[in-house]
Amino acid sequence: MSIASDLQQIRLAIPSHVTLVAISKTHPVEVVMEAYNAGQRIFGENKVQEMVSKFEAMPKNIEWHLVGHLQSNKVKYIAPFVSLIHSVDSLKLLNVINKEAEKIDRVIDCLFQIHIAEEETKFGLSAEELNELLSNPEFKQLKNIRIVGLMGMATFTDNAEHIRREFKSLKDLFKRIKESDFSQNDYFKDLSMGMSSDYQIAIEEGSTMVRVGSSIFGNRNYGAST
Ligand SMILES: *Cc1c(COP(=O)(O)O)cnc(C)c1O
Repeated sequence: MSIASDLQQIRLAIPSHVTLVAISKTHPVEVVMEAYNAGQRIFGENKVQEMVSKFEAMPKNIEWHLVGHLQSNKVKYIAPFVSLIHSVDSLKLLNVINKEAEKIDRVIDCLFQIHIAEEETKFGLSAEELNELLSNPEFKQLKNIRIVGLMGMATFTDNAEHIRREFKSLKDLFKRIKESDFSQNDYFKDLSMGMSSDYQIAIEEGSTMVRVGSSIFGNRNYGAST
């Protein structure tokens, strides 16, 4: 199957209110361009350096999303062009994003990454940590970032019910803080959940944004990555 036909199949499988972020990490520009030529305009990467080099090499009418863990000292490289950062998991990082955005007179959209999986290794805030962050007066003063929603990754398992429970818990948290902390903010509306193996469950549980890599581009070749 070609990238164009895989993309088309996924587009048909997701409702129109769900945004498809094509996760192009590890795939070279020529391959990512096949998806671009098939009409895809939103791409996600998990490494800063790789995202910067693809941004430079590819057409400029692309939205670039950062989906991987972001180190504070690398924010400056993506601040000028990034459309959405999915992986904000500390006030410290948010402060740095705000500072870099202020320097170039931008407001950068961000999602809080919430830890919903069982695995210890996955990044993200707990519900409790999120509440603490939201009530920190320092947070309320940040003018060059905009929190547009939440992101989460489910446990890597074949157990669909387990995955569904984790997505449900993220949706519940999303609803709760939308009604409390963000009730005046129409822009707080995105729930980024679902990858190749679980995006259908995620959509059933209220996802508005799915991050799909291998179902579009095939398996990743880590040997050839940056
Ligand atoms: C790689 C990655 C994806 C895409 O994973 P696939 O299983 O290839 O669809 C989604 N989200 C994040 C955060 C990723 O790092």
